[in-house]
Amino acid sequence: MSRATSYHRPDTVERALALLTAGGNVALAGGTLLNADDDPTPVGMVDLQGLGLTSISVTDALIELGSMVTLHDLRRNGSIPPLVSNAAGAELPSTLRTLATVGGTVATGNPDSILLAALLAHSAEVQVAGPDGTGGAPLSNVLAAGGPCHGRLITAVSLTVGGTTAYEAVGRTPSDTPIVSATARRTDGLTTVALTGVAATPVLVDPADPTAGLEPAADFRGSTDYRLHLASVLTARVLASLDGGS
Ligand SMILES: Cc1cc2nc3c(=O)[nH]c(=O)nc-3n(C[C@H](O)[C@H](O)[C@H](O)COP(=O)(O)OP(=O)(O)OC[C@H]3O[C@@H](n4cnc5c(N)ncnc54)[C@H](O)[C@@H]3O)c2cc1C
Repeated sequence: MSRATSYHRPDTVERALALLTAGGNVALAGGTLLNADDDPTPVGMVDLQGLGLTSISVTDALIELGSMVTLHDLRRNGSIPPLVSNAAGAELPSTLRTLATVGGTVATGNPDSILLAALLAHSAEVQVAGPDGTGGAPLSNVLAAGGPCHGRLITAVSLTVGGTTAYEAVGRTPSDTPIVSATARRTDGLTTVALTGVAATPVLVDPADPTAGLEPAADFRGSTDYRLHLASVLTARVLASLDGGS
C-alpha cells in the first residue's frame, strides 16, 4: 500500500519549500528509495520534477549538476569526469538509474555509494535552499550532518574537474556492491582519498593514515577488522596507481 497521503507538484523552489516546511511532507525525487522503503509512516509527497533542476552546466574548472539529474544522465553525458560517470553506472540496477537522482543520492548518504565517494574526490559542494535562502556546503559536511535538515532542498551539486584519479574495490563478486572501496584524485599536488564501507556514509580520509578514527560496523559481508584492513590495502593501491600515472 502506498504511504503517500497527498501528492504535490510545485513549479518553483519557493513553493516546494513552503510545502516541505509544512508538517508531514517530504521531497520526492526519483522515488527509488522513498517508494521502496518499508517505513509505513504516512507522508505527503512533494514531487521535485516540475522545478527545472535537471541541467548540467560545464565550465573549464567546474561542473554544476541540477539535483534532479539522474544517474543515467551522469553515465551518458560526455562532460562528466570518468570517475563520476563510471561510479554512476555501477550504482543500482539500470532501470532504477533512469529514476534515481544526484540530490536523492546525496540526501540518502548510502555508506556503500561509490558515486558519493567519486563526488567527494571531486571536492563536491552541495547547494541547499531553505526558508533563509540558498547556501553552499562541502558534500562531506552535508553527509556528516545526515543530509539536509527537514524543510530544506538540495538544488544542485557542483564538482571541480581535472587531475589524476584511481579507484580500487573489493566485493564478494566483481559486480556486487563493494564491501570497501577507495577512490582517489590528485590535482595541483593535493591528494584526496574517499572510502566507502567504513562509516555511516562515504568519508574523506587522510591518505597517510586512512583508518584514523574509523570503526566500521561489522555485517555479514565483513567484520570491523576486515574492513579496516581493506581500507589500508585499497588506499595503498590507489596511491600507488596515482604515483604510477602522474
Ligand atoms: C533495489 C535498490 C538498490 C539500491 N542500490 C543503491 C546503490 O547501489 N547505491 C546507493 O547509493 N543507493 C542505492 N539505493 C538507495 C537509493 O535508491 C539511492 O540512494 C537513490 O540514489 C536515491 O535517489 P532518488 O532520487 O530515487 O531519491 P528518493 O527515493 O526520491 O528520495 C530519497 C530520500 O532523499 C530525499 N531527497 C530526495 N531528493 C532530495 C532533494 N533534492 N533535497 C532534499 N532531500 C531530497 C527524499 O525526501 C528521501 O528522504 C538502492 C535502492 C533500491 C530500492
